[in-house]
Amino acid sequence: MPSVEIVAVGTELLLGQLVDTNTPFIAGKLAENGVDVFAMHAVGDNRERIADMIRAALQRADGVITTGGLGPTVDDLTKEAVCDALGIDTETHEPSLRSMEEVFVKSGRHMRENNRKQALIPRGSLALANREGTAPGFVATTAQGKFVASMPGVPREMKPMLTEGVLPWLQQNFWLSEHIRTRTLHTIGLAESEIDHRITDLFASLENPKIAVLAHQFRCDVKIMAKATSVDAAIALIAPVEHEVLRRLDGHVFGVDEETLPFAMHVLLQQSRRTLAVAESCTGGSVAAALTSVPGSSKSFAGGIVSYDNAVKMKQLGVKREDLDRCGAVSEEVAKQMADGVRQNIRTTIGLAITGIAGPSGGTHEKPVGLVWLAISEASGLRTRRLQLSGDREGIQSRATTAALGFLWETLSRNR
Ligand code: ATP
Ligand code: MG
Repeated sequence: MPSVEIVAVGTELLLGQLVDTNTPFIAGKLAENGVDVFAMHAVGDNRERIADMIRAALQRADGVITTGGLGPTVDDLTKEAVCDALGIDTETHEPSLRSMEEVFVKSGRHMRENNRKQALIPRGSLALANREGTAPGFVATTAQGKFVASMPGVPREMKPMLTEGVLPWLQQNFWLSEHIRTRTLHTIGLAESEIDHRITDLFASLENPKIAVLAHQFRCDVKIMAKATSVDAAIALIAPVEHEVLRRLDGHVFGVDEETLPFAMHVLLQQSRRTLAVAESCTGGSVAAALTSVPGSSKSFAGGIVSYDNAVKMKQLGVKREDLDRCGAVSEEVAKQMADGVRQNIRTTIGLAITGIAGPSGGTHEKPVGLVWLAISEASGLRTRRLQLSGDREGIQSRATTAALGFLWETLSRNR
């Protein structure tokens, strides 16, 4: 199994102005393909320091994968640094130069000298096509059989170059024989400790696949990871364990892998031909935003009302003034009326309401910050749930959003 170190190039990364998302993406793909990642680094746009970093990494690992600094500007220095580290020169990659010329002709722009620089690659290296941009990537090799693979920093350009260029090259040159597959089961409504309790014997007894529980804002993931000599064999190892975990967490798994909670909600709504409207107070529209993140969601999600001020709760949702005065805006009674009101006004089969205290101020002894009331209204009746959430304002809003969607998902999946 080859070993690799990843180097993200860019001064923005060191100034804390840019979050490095390339490295975790590359690391994930390498792990899936059985490549060991020994270390991850970030370095500024400095030719000497990039070259030093590459030299040092090549002492420890079989190869280095870099992202960033392949563009046309003066601060794009990765190529030069790779050449310094390997003691070679650059050469023009003619096919890249020609395709760049074509792009410039087509768009009627003038090609400058610094654009030509983008078609340079280390002498003798393999150029990697960039189907989303102009600068090619490359894989340069050393006499000792080590390699440096360099890709652009722009994630949209880097991702296909990794999967279509770098990984196939690694597979050919290192005869990668190990595959790692991960299946992620998304759960709602169970605490991490409860999940742990239900599957603790599986944790202890299994080596391959391995199981891990990961807590998120108000929901948890169970990851099942298998290692095998082929993707199919890894999938076959996962299947029985997945079946067993699903049995033990019955009624709480809303989706797998890429499936999100809003996606799962829409599937249930569409299956039962129901439509939804939401009335939000403390979440300020984020439940509606989550619901509309799913393509085609207009089939089941009609719309919502952000009723932050009591006047809006009364006028748009028909919440009664005397109940607002008597119970307060964050109360079971008001949540019920908000859910009824939005269902009737928007004319959907379901109304979902969220009212709570996001903080940091506004809490009292009886109603502390983090108190949230949820209500679901259907023609057949009302369901409510009281939550006491922790965290700062952002955390409470985000947990309340997930909790509201989770409450609805549980309700819909139980009476499917
Ligand atoms: P360009 O041709 O656009 O100059 P490049 O290969 O030279 O591409 P950089 O100049 O290093 O790449 O970065 C270009 C942009 O790509 C950055 O401004 C940033 O938006 C994004 N980017 C770069 N590195 C990373 C990274 N590690 N994680 C996420 N985004 C990144
Ligand atoms: Mg650049």
